[in-house]
Amino acid sequence: MNATATATIKDGVCDFCTDPNIVWSYGCGPVAVMLQMDDEVLPGISTDEPWAACPTCAALIEADDRAGLLTRCADIMRLHHGLADRADINHVIRLSVQALHDGFWMAKRGPRTAVRRG
Ligand SMILES: [Zn+2]
Repeated sequence: MNATATATIKDGVCDFCTDPNIVWSYGCGPVAVMLQMDDEVLPGISTDEPWAACPTCAALIEADDRAGLLTRCADIMRLHHGLADRADINHVIRLSVQALHDGFWMAKRGPRTAVRRG
């Protein structure tokens, strides 16, 4: 195994959209975000671990398509939480996802690494 060219991930999902098909890992410095939705405060994130990405999210990241990545992940998060497709809900979700992605874009470092399932 070439340890310098691959990252081994045993389990987990895409850190952007929760797709289980992880193919890339992005090195990232510390990111701290608190997510809140209505009266539910989602777990705060404070990590300097690499971020796992599925093929679709990775393609958007490589294209620097930040708006595309935001729209994709916000839509998936809304569906994941079974929330209605309403303007006010979409607005709150986009703010939450945007805060998370802003942290990623600011702290992202180095080239991506291919993921090998361990
Ligand atoms: Zn993804």
